[in-house]
Amino acid sequence: MPGGHDQTLRPFLWRAENLYADTEIVSRNHDGMQRYTYGEYADRAAKLANALDEHGIEQGDRVATFCWNTSRHFETYFAVPTIGAQLHTINPLLPDDHIRFIVDNADDELVFVDPSLAEKLAGAAADSEEFEGVDFVLMGEEVPEGIDAVAYEEFIADQPTDYDWPDIDEDQPAGMCYTSGTTGRPKGVEYTHQMLWSHTMATLTPQGIPMADDDVVMPVVPMFHVNAWGMPFTATAGGSKHVYPGPSPEPEDIASLIEEEGVTVTAGVPTVWLGLMDYCKENDVDLSTLDTVIVGGSAAPESMIRWFDDRGVELLHAWGMTEMSPIGSVSHLKGNLEDEAYDTQVEKRAKQGIMVPGLEFKVIDEDGERIEWDGEEFGELYVRGPWVTKEYFQRPEANEEDFEDGWLKTGDVVTVDPDGYLKIVDRAKDVIKSGGEWISSVELENAIMAHDDVAEATVIGVPHEKWQERPVAFVVPGEDADRDTLVDEVYDMLREDYPKWWLPDDIEFIEEVPKTATGKFSKKDLREEYADQSLVEGNVPEDAAPESDD
Ligand code: ADP
Repeated sequence: MPGGHDQTLRPFLWRAENLYADTEIVSRNHDGMQRYTYGEYADRAAKLANALDEHGIEQGDRVATFCWNTSRHFETYFAVPTIGAQLHTINPLLPDDHIRFIVDNADDELVFVDPSLAEKLAGAAADSEEFEGVDFVLMGEEVPEGIDAVAYEEFIADQPTDYDWPDIDEDQPAGMCYTSGTTGRPKGVEYTHQMLWSHTMATLTPQGIPMADDDVVMPVVPMFHVNAWGMPFTATAGGSKHVYPGPSPEPEDIASLIEEEGVTVTAGVPTVWLGLMDYCKENDVDLSTLDTVIVGGSAAPESMIRWFDDRGVELLHAWGMTEMSPIGSVSHLKGNLEDEAYDTQVEKRAKQGIMVPGLEFKVIDEDGERIEWDGEEFGELYVRGPWVTKEYFQRPEANEEDFEDGWLKTGDVVTVDPDGYLKIVDRAKDVIKSGGEWISSVELENAIMAHDDVAEATVIGVPHEKWQERPVAFVVPGEDADRDTLVDEVYDMLREDYPKWWLPDDIEFIEEVPKTATGKFSKKDLREEYADQSLVEGNVPEDAAPESDD
């Protein structure tokens, strides 16, 4: 029975309200900047909790959000789980049929919607059975005519500013997020209070993504993407000031929030920081308050680490997954590497890092054996720990595939070096199996993208009668590229660094690499299109295929 001492989110809210009542929360909302303190935040969260009660939301019910990173969205982060209901964030960038599937699968009853996303949601909801009986709250002061929703400020207006937050069992689900499903339907991951509590405590440690009461924390990673990597919870537990960048922040918005609010810790995927780096070329941006930029979701290039180092900012490269709440490893420099040469250190920091305290991992090769930690051998990464999900929501067949004896099979293929640093080599489903050997599609992509006239490149394995699979590259030429010579130039470049059996059987030009809803390269469509290997026959450069040994 819960006795008020369980591992729940409530003590984090209590701490911020009582120890840091005057610390600020700032948000670039669609209707202007909102600025208040934790004291007022706690009042507004209590009002929201009372409004949810009045609306009939009960313990165990699911409440959805379809929102950008704003202070109002942050109010749902504590109010919903702390009354015992479940906060279900929905990625608004998903296709409509995924949104309908998700709302139906999660059995959402109430959806909080950002005004800038109302049209998108209305499109998905129109004439759909899945949305029957669902009510909407629009995150603002008022609701424009023609929209069937209640305004958030009206929803909470007449409610009391206190709430007797109940004791909740730590196994009660507090949150839920769907993985974007690059293959098949999206899979729901439920986060219990205990998972979010332990994730928060681990990320607060020096080897996590620490935030303290003198920090100003700005999550750029969307709050619909694994709770903005848990930052709103970690920042609250640490008593930090919060800064929310609002709907679709441009590099210019990110730069000015850093300068004006004195941001010390921020986080996002590499494309966000590439945008900021580009913006800084043309504009004079003061990054002097910034201590740490957390980069994850896809690999952070070494050049980005160096760029931030040059400005006195530490880039922490982090790896994680929706299934892991999401932080798994962070690329902190271990104590024994502090005297190493700078280049060696950067090489280490560009890896996906060392596991944060509280997790265990193992890496299993194709024969079911554990790999050597020599930085060379690779295999699939398995993880387990308190904030790793044990199963998907209502998906027994996916459970069978992705979990084994209490371990989550991450689907990431990695090497581990003698210092314990993980390096992601590929996704298990993307690694190319050619003539009994593995070729890393990610490594080939990066090698091809190193050519100045290549804007983007992706590599897939195409079925091959003899070699099982062979790599084929798809290249988006840069604006100034000479398309007549580019293919030969890329081959020449690859020949310098790779054995000939690594060379793609074909290099094709495309206009754009298809992307998933989380902005990652989507190889699914290309793979379907090229499932028939005869498509590439005839293009193979003479020396590309592996040496025959059969
Ligand atoms: P989705 O499947 O929606 O992209 P996730 O956000 O859960 O969902 O993605 C997790 C995957 O993203 C990981 O399994 C890994 O392949 C990739 N990933 C996450 N962080 C990194 C990183 N720092 N470097 C390379 N890949 C990463």
